Amino acid sequence: MRILLANPRGFCAGVRMAIDVVDQLLDICKGERIYVFHEIVHNKHVVNRFRDRGVVFVEDLNEVPNGSIAVFSAHGVSPQIRAIAKQRNLTAVDATCPLVTKVHVEAIRYAKMGIQMLLIGHKDHQEVQGTLGEAPDMIQVVEKPEDIPSLRVKDPEKLAYLTQTTLSTDDAEVIIRALKVAFPSIQAPPTSDICYATTNRQHAVRQIAPEADLVLVIGSKNSSNSKRLTEIAENAGCPGHLLDDVSELRDEWFQGVEAVMVTAGASAPEDLVAGLCRELVRRFGATIEVRNIVEEDTEFKLPAALQGMMKSQGIDPASRRIRVSAPEITSEMYGAVPLTVGASG
Ligand code: SF4
Repeated sequence: MRILLANPRGFCAGVRMAIDVVDQLLDICKGERIYVFHEIVHNKHVVNRFRDRGVVFVEDLNEVPNGSIAVFSAHGVSPQIRAIAKQRNLTAVDATCPLVTKVHVEAIRYAKMGIQMLLIGHKDHQEVQGTLGEAPDMIQVVEKPEDIPSLRVKDPEKLAYLTQTTLSTDDAEVIIRALKVAFPSIQAPPTSDICYATTNRQHAVRQIAPEADLVLVIGSKNSSNSKRLTEIAENAGCPGHLLDDVSELRDEWFQGVEAVMVTAGASAPEDLVAGLCRELVRRFGATIEVRNIVEEDTEFKLPAALQGMMKSQGIDPASRRIRVSAPEITSEMYGAVPLTVGASG
């Protein structure tokens, strides 16, 4: 069996920054309880590992005692949530990904200009709820082209669309095309709202899946970008499965399989990818071929509030940053696996 290991895969810059925020807080606020509003990133293992270190995750900010430290997750929050944090005198540390903030800023700008917005995304997703909260009277969510006839548009000449950052670029394109037919003057965001990490991981699946008999995506079921990767594999004609870790592997997936593409959603830790690869090597004598499709070097700063807290303790925030680099196949994680570096895409 050949494992076609996609690069890029796994953690994006926003997820690294958000995880780094909680890590640093645990380090500098010893003895103080750290609360996180929603899952810091949508990954079961990341959340459970922090729970084991004493972090408390809440779905309602009113569960956080007055005056405590509350971290906002990578998916962003609405102004209403910020207001509650202020009222309750919480020390808010905002780990929202800057690429989600970019969409919020666009929403605020359009709202000020009196431009109505159509937000393409999944209604129940925390990111969409956060963006919607910036201008609830001016934004309607569009999940699929069938939603278009029931939209209430006041002036089709003053209309723009935005998108959730983690959509399938193919699915979003279908909706955008339908919106342009219904509202020819609709304005597009200055640059795509679908982020670089989502785009690159999806591109890797489109490139590699046609060579594979099976695509395995490490990621949690509530991770939007991870789910999209399995859908894209299926659209490319290759069966795809989303699994949190190696314990969810099923024997029946492997009948007649000679090449398995392995990738991971933007919130999935590399050690879980390594665990999956080690198991495929053990069970099937697989060899690993690394496929380099796109190089990534995006990196985000820690939030200002956290930088201030670190400086007040004499810590230079720059000295603590995790550098973004392609996931390395270290012997510590992967063991002595048979490895080749395959052709770049
Ligand atoms: S997937 Fe994209 S928008 Fe989401 S945290 Fe990562 S970089 Fe930011």
